[in-house]
Amino acid sequence: MIRKPMIFAATSDLSGKTRGKAFPADQLNKRCERGMGWVPTNVQITCFDTIADSPFGSFGDLALVPDQSADVSVDFEDGTPPERFMLSDIHTLDGKPWGFCTRSILRAALSRLKDLTGARLLAAFEHEFQFAAGSTLLHQGFGLQGHAEYSGFAETLLAALEQASLTPDSFICEYGPDQFEVTVAPEEGVKAADAAVITRELARMTARRFEQTATFTPIRDVSSVGNGVHIHMSFMGDNGPLTYDAAGSHGLSPLTASFAAGVLKYMDSILALTAPSVISYERLTPHRWSAAYNNLGLQDREASLRICPVTATEPDAIARQFNIEYRAADAAASPYLSLAAIVHAGCQGIEEELAAPQVTEEDLSLLNAEELGRKGFVRLPATLEDALERFARNDIVTGWFDPEFASVYLAHKKAEAAFLEGRDTAQKCAAYEDVY
Ligand code: GLU
Ligand code: MG
Repeated sequence: MIRKPMIFAATSDLSGKTRGKAFPADQLNKRCERGMGWVPTNVQITCFDTIADSPFGSFGDLALVPDQSADVSVDFEDGTPPERFMLSDIHTLDGKPWGFCTRSILRAALSRLKDLTGARLLAAFEHEFQFAAGSTLLHQGFGLQGHAEYSGFAETLLAALEQASLTPDSFICEYGPDQFEVTVAPEEGVKAADAAVITRELARMTARRFEQTATFTPIRDVSSVGNGVHIHMSFMGDNGPLTYDAAGSHGLSPLTASFAAGVLKYMDSILALTAPSVISYERLTPHRWSAAYNNLGLQDREASLRICPVTATEPDAIARQFNIEYRAADAAASPYLSLAAIVHAGCQGIEEELAAPQVTEEDLSLLNAEELGRKGFVRLPATLEDALERFARNDIVTGWFDPEFASVYLAHKKAEAAFLEGRDTAQKCAAYEDVY
């Protein structure tokens, strides 16, 4: 068949979906200069493709500008055309980053970190997902037979990730039914969130080639486990890693300690950005190994922020491996927005010179509200509504974004929730399963 290759200019938007427009590949140079036309109200397209109230109406024009350093081209060699997309920034017509471009929002958060500390952020996203059609095999948590049934898919996905210049780290037949986990190696700054978008999209594209649908929905069935997005973070300075200090509390360097304390302090107010769907809060309940409190854990998978184990024994090698993991995120969130919110919260902690958080060594779900408060913890919001309210009420947090960001985001989420009105929890889960 004749064909003219195209490139899809992609943005990961407020709904956490990857949207954009395609152009003929031979126009690349022109498009990198001028971009593709984009409309402000697109930011109000919810994950269900309804349109929320928009202050922009039918007015305004923007440019979706592909970034040649984020060019993904994957030939599955199965007779279908190669997949080609480029992660893109949204600019105003005078070439400035638009206040709702999630990639630019992350870039601003990373510059804040750099200006404050001189550190660059390294991050790796761990993604859990499930196959919608399921398999014929039951009870395959970490099972060899479960792995074997999907190893064809997994090897194709890993090859696709490699073609996209990412380094696959691992593929796991996870604990939940038809649940898998894929992780790629850490990348620096915006590239880490680019890698998260690329991983999700290539997993979906690969699954389709195996006549499956991969869903990254936060939770499919409330009687089972959820699909988390765990974000591993470490800091790099000009002279090497800055995350670890042998003399610090549990090995946390002063930078990491204050950053972690800031993330914990502001966690209840950023949750609406990192776990932004109605059903995200079905996942964020105790004993699901997700996150229900704003606590720091050491080798504790119930903690929302975790100091990860290292296998090295030499100080330099420990410093290179040492990282912290944010567990209260899911794939309903744009990875750019999740990471931006976490980095801003961490920077806030650094500016406020917060002390190293204590590490929890008990099951916080056994404490009542008063005991929790006394120990300095909060139960994270249990509904999206509550999470949005805490975000909107926190002037420090809303102040990290464009002055219009909070009101637009709230309207967006209100329309998303309105779409689900009248449905029970199982129906809401089914709706999200279809879109993520
Ligand atoms: N599925 C869990 C979550 O929703 C995570 C399990 C794990 O520790 O990998 O975050
Ligand atoms: Mg996992």
